[in-house]
Amino acid sequence: MTRFVESTITFPYKRSLGPVTGAFMTALAEKRILGVRSGAAVLVPPMEWDPATGAELTADLVEVGPAGTVESWTWVPAPTEQHPLDRPFAFAFIRLDGASVPLLHAVDAGSAAAVSEGMRVAPRWRGQRIGHITDIQCFVLGENAEVDGPDAGSPAQPVELMDYTAAVTYSTPVPVMADRAVAATREQRLIGLRCPACARVYVGGDRPYCPVDALELGPDSEVDLPSTGTITNFIVVEPVRYPGQTETEPFARVFVLLDDTEVVLTYQPVIDLPVGDIHVGVRVAAVWAPKAAPVDTFSGIGRPMGSLLGWTPSGEPDVNDPDLVNRIY
Ligand SMILES: [Zn+2]
Repeated sequence: MTRFVESTITFPYKRSLGPVTGAFMTALAEKRILGVRSGAAVLVPPMEWDPATGAELTADLVEVGPAGTVESWTWVPAPTEQHPLDRPFAFAFIRLDGASVPLLHAVDAGSAAAVSEGMRVAPRWRGQRIGHITDIQCFVLGENAEVDGPDAGSPAQPVELMDYTAAVTYSTPVPVMADRAVAATREQRLIGLRCPACARVYVGGDRPYCPVDALELGPDSEVDLPSTGTITNFIVVEPVRYPGQTETEPFARVFVLLDDTEVVLTYQPVIDLPVGDIHVGVRVAAVWAPKAAPVDTFSGIGRPMGSLLGWTPSGEPDVNDPDLVNRIY
């Protein structure tokens, strides 16, 4: 059975809101909802440009709602963590009083039978508001807005920035040969897969086939590889401060051409080799975790593969070969 690993990649950043969206968010923190005039219409949320014509709008903001009328809706019977409520709810187009277009938001109605077109709803505000659309926790049935819990009041400053986190979670199948490659590192062995047709050697096991000959490579194709090599390329990374970044100083990743092979290991960590001393041609040797304390991490780019922790200078003289830099993969 195929094993999968789950990964999540996130991109947290701050977004500047500008004069119109900033005013909208600031008003939400004050339990008010703003629209913008566009000719005879009032658009909610307010925009800087007319979505139909692209014409720039003067920031003629007007308060709407807070109550409104459901124009259409759909029931969400099984909310996920991405949804605004942790219990079944309706997503509804709500035309707030005074607005010309509906606003999409959640309605906490208890059951689908309680929702209908034309019903009146009003916001339930969060007690703790930060100037974000989620300051409206949801809409509730009736004419009267309410606050969830004690009202902590509004921030003193206008809201100009918004924290935003884009995140993607995905699953990757782990080839059996990748697990075998990681297991070999526990014995301080580096194994590759040699294609029986063309004799090319592939390493890491995450590509257990020869792309040239379209042959699947299994345990029969395993070969032991040397644990010494030469640096052919390198990258110095200046860490940028963002959530989750643990590096504080510049660090390097190197490409290592293994001795007597055509195999280049990419994005390898270095050990006891200062960033300023790295250059093409440095002779290196593998550094292994002790057999008594193996590492099982599956290889990701720039991460150790299992118990292969990285590469350290072997002390031999540099290799002076101008062709080395062309050995990238
Ligand atoms: Zn081949």
